[in-house]
Amino acid sequence: MTEKVLYEELCPAEFKERVEVCPVAYLPLGTLEWHGPHMPLGADGIQAQELFKRVARNVGGVVLPSLFLGPDRIYHDPNREFYGMDICTGGTVVPYEMHQLPGSAYWLPDELYQNMIRQIAANLARAGFKVLVAHGHGPSTWQFCDLKAELKEKYGLDCYCAFDFYKDEVMGYQCDHAAANETSITMAVRPELVQLERIAEGKEEPIAIAGRDPRIHASEEYGKEVLEINVKAMSEGIRAMFS
Ligand SMILES: [Zn+2]
Repeated sequence: MTEKVLYEELCPAEFKERVEVCPVAYLPLGTLEWHGPHMPLGADGIQAQELFKRVARNVGGVVLPSLFLGPDRIYHDPNREFYGMDICTGGTVVPYEMHQLPGSAYWLPDELYQNMIRQIAANLARAGFKVLVAHGHGPSTWQFCDLKAELKEKYGLDCYCAFDFYKDEVMGYQCDHAAANETSITMAVRPELVQLERIAEGKEEPIAIAGRDPRIHASEEYGKEVLEINVKAMSEGIRAMFS
């Protein structure tokens, strides 16, 4: 049987034992967000959760369910709002007009997100955790990192994101938007969910994809390399905290 690491699957005695051995909680910072025509809408949470599951099996700790609400840039026009990749800011594979991308349903204001993180941290500290590792959607990860000192002071939680264990523009974990990096990671962890042919054969425009072109640079091999490097770095980092 594969070792259970998901919070929602543990019985209380199993939970207690895991937290005593390794008091680390892993929080996938997901979205329900357009990730190109070729990727699942929950790509952010899926990638983060798959990384955390592997690390938790290596060193212990408990993986939380993915959040699917997160902050992002927003633009209000008189009739409606556009957010995140709806707004083309450059650095994308192809240019496009600002419009509401199908499937995106994740935005919340910065303050509300930060309060949600504070409340999650309060609950996790109460449950016995000493370390919180959160990672995923870019703006969610950055804003989580901005709260590190406060979460330590108020709840005694040491907080980290994946970039604290390994940082690199190409081999880092989730360091673009639906481009070569995120596409390859998703191909490595959930190959059945990636439909590269949608953009590779020109059927659909590769809009709202930021980073290196996945049609040229994405591969399962690259994704596996990124995954392996990051699982190793995070596992070693966490192991060192408790040795
Ligand atoms: Zn993403």
